[in-house]
Amino acid sequence: MANNFNAEIEKKKPFYRLNSIYFWYLCRKNTKSLIVIFNDLVILFFSRFIHSLKNQQMIRFITILFLFFSFSITAQIQSPSEFLGYEIGTQFSRHSDVVDYFEHVASNSNLVTYDTYGKTNERRPLTYAIVSSKNNIDNIETIRTNNLKNTGIIEGDSSPETAIVWLSYNVHGNEASSSEAAMSTLFELITKKQAWLENTVVIMDPCINPDGRDRYVNWYNQTKATPYNEAQNATEHHEPWPGGRPNHYLFDLNRDWAWATQVESIQRLKIYNKWMPHVHVDFHEQGINEPYYFAPAAEPFHEIISDWQRQFQIDIGKNHAKYFDREGWLFFTRERFDLLYPSYGDTYPTFMGAIGMTYEQAGHGRAGLGINTDEGYELTLADRVAHHTTTGLSTVEISSQNATKLNSEFKKFFETSNLKYKSYILSGNQDKINSLAKLLDKHEIKYGWSNSSSASGYHYQTQKNGSIDAENGLVVNTNQPKGNMVKALFEPNAKLNNPKTYDITSWSLPYAYGLDAVASTNLAQANEVRIMTAIHNNSAPKSAGYISKWNSMQDATFLAELLKNNIKVRFSEKELSFNGKKFDRGSLIITKSDNKSNPDYDNTITEIANKHQRELYVSATSFSDNGTDFGSPNIKLVNQQKIAVLKGDGVSSLSYGSIWHFFETQLQYPITSIDTDYFDSSLLSTIDVLVLPEGDYGNSFDEEGLESLKEWIQKGGKVIAIGRAVGFFNKKEGFGIEKNGNDSEENEETDSVDELNNQLIPYDQKGSNYLKKMITGSIYKVAIDSSHPMAFGYGDTYFSLKRSRSSFQFLDSGYNVGYIKGDAISVSGFSGKDAKEGLKNSLVFGEKRIGRGSIIYLVDDVLFRSFWENGKLFFVNSIFFVNNNNKFRL
Ligand SMILES: [Zn+2]
Repeated sequence: MANNFNAEIEKKKPFYRLNSIYFWYLCRKNTKSLIVIFNDLVILFFSRFIHSLKNQQMIRFITILFLFFSFSITAQIQSPSEFLGYEIGTQFSRHSDVVDYFEHVASNSNLVTYDTYGKTNERRPLTYAIVSSKNNIDNIETIRTNNLKNTGIIEGDSSPETAIVWLSYNVHGNEASSSEAAMSTLFELITKKQAWLENTVVIMDPCINPDGRDRYVNWYNQTKATPYNEAQNATEHHEPWPGGRPNHYLFDLNRDWAWATQVESIQRLKIYNKWMPHVHVDFHEQGINEPYYFAPAAEPFHEIISDWQRQFQIDIGKNHAKYFDREGWLFFTRERFDLLYPSYGDTYPTFMGAIGMTYEQAGHGRAGLGINTDEGYELTLADRVAHHTTTGLSTVEISSQNATKLNSEFKKFFETSNLKYKSYILSGNQDKINSLAKLLDKHEIKYGWSNSSSASGYHYQTQKNGSIDAENGLVVNTNQPKGNMVKALFEPNAKLNNPKTYDITSWSLPYAYGLDAVASTNLAQANEVRIMTAIHNNSAPKSAGYISKWNSMQDATFLAELLKNNIKVRFSEKELSFNGKKFDRGSLIITKSDNKSNPDYDNTITEIANKHQRELYVSATSFSDNGTDFGSPNIKLVNQQKIAVLKGDGVSSLSYGSIWHFFETQLQYPITSIDTDYFDSSLLSTIDVLVLPEGDYGNSFDEEGLESLKEWIQKGGKVIAIGRAVGFFNKKEGFGIEKNGNDSEENEETDSVDELNNQLIPYDQKGSNYLKKMITGSIYKVAIDSSHPMAFGYGDTYFSLKRSRSSFQFLDSGYNVGYIKGDAISVSGFSGKDAKEGLKNSLVFGEKRIGRGSIIYLVDDVLFRSFWENGKLFFVNSIFFVNNNNKFRL
């Protein structure tokens, strides 16, 4: 036998020699295409050999030889450590390092493609890799379209059996172990775990939030000791404000999936919708002392989550547990991180049919390369990477084992005929409808335009059955593949089987967009095409002026651009009537008289109006029908406000970020951001408006500072205090704001029956009693004084997203513009009994005059996550319209 074998070897020698030469040549060239050719040649020769072979030993030998060649090829692909020059887990890699590594792998492997899907605000690339078998990569477009056919999103039959797993890393920039784990996971997949890729496509986004990651990593690399210091009090474990968690505009991208306000989300959704994965993992990190968390998630689960989605979360968790138990790694499941709020990286994919999951590793911006935990062991970056790599791989493994079932169950999720409401019909302000339609486009949710004059069903405004005027209304039906997501976003009230949730419990879009709406159990008919004519204004130099309406953000952006172009604009505090045409309070007036110094003003304003699609009413005369002429004292000039916003220590980075983002990307009006660490009241003389985002201002305004602030307001300054910033002024002399008694901790009575019972609550039920005082996010009905300039563009009722139980008394020497009179009415979401009771007779929006100036209180933050579209005009009104007399300040 051995002689035969040697003879065979002798016979085949020329072939081996040829292969060796080829291999040497390819190593020198090191290009992907040649490797592909080489691989193909090897396979060709190998299959010919197998045919010609006579004995088992020979086959074994050739197989070993073939494996050696294959290994040699993959050996050209460096491991992350080889490529980066340091062991993974011993340094933090910059985003560009991660991108370089993925590029290296993709250009040397035919199992990986790597592309850019966008750019961040700071111009870093957003990228994704597709990892699968060679055969799958060659047929990737067919796999993708077959998957969409399976959901009904595109037409056609298919019975796909390839699992699609999407791994998203580093959404929170300072949870930085996960991009390191992305590199390890990629290398493992294409080397040791190739078998799983035969029936599985893995999509990897190595970093969802590159700007945040680099903010953290650059700071850490600059700050850390060498070798690193594991003491908790070392500087490298204390990240400065605002930390690396959020993106450039300080938004939490893990709250932005459904609202898609950020460039990262908008660009990612395009790829996500092209793929619609079956499994989605969002990798995170939590406090340094926590064990690892993985699926199954905690209650509450949104009711659209299917039994299969619940079950497979358990299967995945058990698969991870196998590895964690083997290594002796602690973990927990089911006790935290629920699946209700639709804008997370776990819920959003879940509501799009996937098994969406959050994995949490201990670490966060605190841990650095290594830190001593409270439990006395050292947590290292290397550990964190190992854990995330393990769960990532385990997810691919279990998905691969269940590929067929994943596909068949995925298909079922898109069958939506059992949903109670068949249609949501919305009518009202066309600008707001357009904004909502734009949001639906981002999710590729289909909608149409009502072809009937009315629609009936559950009426959002009255919370009972009723009908609305549906002319030109927006119709969103649930009989579409994304019907479950439509339900989650539009339904009046999400079912809540347990109020202990991590986030807001209400987000219903008709309230958020301020539209009249009904939810109908009958399917509404709709036209696909909307009848709309583009607005085109012509300049009218002979006219006395132009009038334009005021009731949407589009009007506000129009005003901002006029001001930036030095056009003088007025607004009306009274209703207007010119030549039989009526205009509401707040309408903008641009007169020839004000703009005489600008000979080209007609062309400028018509151009700007056309660009913003604003209709200008031309009035030949300033003489009105109803007594309010252009020269009326009730028609006031809008000031070109110089606005400052405080940021830095003490200020909520999320709140500041939402204001910064609002001014730069939505209103497009300049602001000056001032850090609390150098803010001084002397700076006030250079500005007109000071915005205080949510925060604690105890360190920014001592007694003297507060006096200076008051003096500045008295001279005509304007302060806008948002959310918790309102609480800072509680009972401060001269600011006229006080919390309601039942909201202040020191006033809590202890002798009521309730409180006595409270004291006797058993240990294991104490937490649930806290729920009574809790509002994490619920929609309340608010009365509006629509005659006040802060409320121009609004009606008498507004639905506000209330996120805390903070309750303030009505201003007794000020204007109560938005308020809850009598019992508080929550129309959607959870509110604890005591918290709701405490909101009785409370202020929501108000203005207090101090001398010539004002302080404006926005108890509810109208810019929260930038998704409550209907609240934004209150903020704009506060800046430009409220107490306009301040322009005469000394
Ligand atoms: Zn996180």
